[in-house]
Amino acid sequence: MLGQKRTAQTVAIIGLGDTGVLVASRLVKQFKVIGITTKPNLVSGQELGKRLTDLPWWSVHYNTPLKRFLGLSAVEIIQAKAEWVNPEQRSVRIRLPDGLDSIIHYDYLVIASGTSNGFWRDDSIRSQKEIDDALQETPRALRRQRRSLSWVGVPVVSAVHSTFAVPNRQNK
Ligand SMILES: Cc1cc2nc3c(=O)[nH]c(=O)nc-3n(C[C@H](O)[C@H](O)[C@H](O)COP(=O)(O)OP(=O)(O)OC[C@H]3O[C@@H](n4cnc5c(N)ncnc54)[C@H](O)[C@@H]3O)c2cc1C
Repeated sequence: MLGQKRTAQTVAIIGLGDTGVLVASRLVKQFKVIGITTKPNLVSGQELGKRLTDLPWWSVHYNTPLKRFLGLSAVEIIQAKAEWVNPEQRSVRIRLPDGLDSIIHYDYLVIASGTSNGFWRDDSIRSQKEIDDALQETPRALRRQRRSLSWVGVPVVSAVHSTFAVPNRQNK
């Protein structure tokens, strides 16, 4: 039976991040797999430093369209946000990018939606362009922050200089 689907049972996976992608690529060998994900890409959590300082390099290695994974070629990928799970009816209500709702039925459910931390992770529906824009915004925000720190630095240095320099001048 190896390599053959023993059953037509359906596994629904909520979230195609690092975990969901790995689970989907393994289970699809034996089940019909439906991946429900808010993002069309695997936006990896790895190498935060490189993401902030060398985004073009980071994007090549860690921002990967899901359709490029051969292991997912037989997975039905639906871009949507899972909003409600009904375990009795074995169904998930999803919100599609156009705002419409739909129901997915499953035999088994895997929840791999990760966490939201307000910076690196969120559960919003995003297109590829919106993912790119959001990735570019964080280094930009850091650069803006650095500039305002430099401006704060000028008066602080001046104040420190006056505090220590003026008495010396007065002593002359
Ligand atoms: C700042 C930071 C740095 C890290 N650095 C590293 C590192 O260098 N190396 C390393 O190995 N690990 C690192 N990690 C850890 C790694 O990112 C996580 O362990 C890993 O990403 C978790 O994968 P996941 O699939 O569980 O969740 P996620 O990667 O968060 O994926 C969850 C997916 O589910 C989607 N989703 C969420 N809610 C819904 C919903 N309701 N419906 C549909 N889809 C949904 C999300 O959009 C996302 O695509 C780092 C984590 C952080 C926060």
